[in-house]
Amino acid sequence: MGKAIFADLTRCTACRGCQIACKQWKNLPGEETRNTGSHQNPPDLSGKTLRLVRFTEARVDGKLEWLFFPEQCRHCYSPPCVRAAEDVGSDILLHDAATGAIYPGRAAPLVQKDDAQTIREACPYDIPRPGEKGVGVFKCDFCFDRISNGMLPSCVLSCPTGSLVFGEEEEIVALAKERLKEVRKRFPKAYLGDPGGVRVIYLYQTDHRLYYQDPIE
Ligand code: SF4
Ligand code: SF4
Repeated sequence: MGKAIFADLTRCTACRGCQIACKQWKNLPGEETRNTGSHQNPPDLSGKTLRLVRFTEARVDGKLEWLFFPEQCRHCYSPPCVRAAEDVGSDILLHDAATGAIYPGRAAPLVQKDDAQTIREACPYDIPRPGEKGVGVFKCDFCFDRISNGMLPSCVLSCPTGSLVFGEEEEIVALAKERLKEVRKRFPKAYLGDPGGVRVIYLYQTDHRLYYQDPIE
């Protein structure tokens, strides 16, 4: 039940349309950035950048390849961030029963530094980020306002390659399994990340750990 996104990483060209569309819909400002050796920009998620296309150069089966990873909140079925938020207060992160979206409540921008850090550490994917001076909890909310009104999330709407697909969870899971069969003809090690645990299902061409490099400090 609820909604889901399928993200076929073998179709992602790293155009960053989804990253920009997220900023536009959320009316989020740009931020100072720096070159970390690739076109990835900025280096990491932040309170102002809720969706980020990661670029990594990796050796895959003896060949050098660019791997692109449009990162966002996975909207877990059983979200540890919500449990951590409940432990530090109420109405900070909410779980919508109809769509499955995990979205920041009205109190989220007021969460103080220690509590914001506790919530960040609860997330297995390191998604929620603090705002200015460490205060607040900010993350993708599945475009809760849009999907509650029958619209696509802005990232999915912007994707020109068919890498991102949004829909009813059952249909998306079926599509992901179907697409995996096709992709395995080219990439025999391809697999689906965390099926059954999250609502954003990535199709990885290779080991998911190769898609992510810590930002260079
Ligand atoms: Fe919460 Fe992290 Fe899961 Fe998103 S990915 S719902 S922030 S635990
Ligand atoms: Fe990749 Fe689609 Fe995002 Fe472009 S819009 S970076 S193709 S997921």
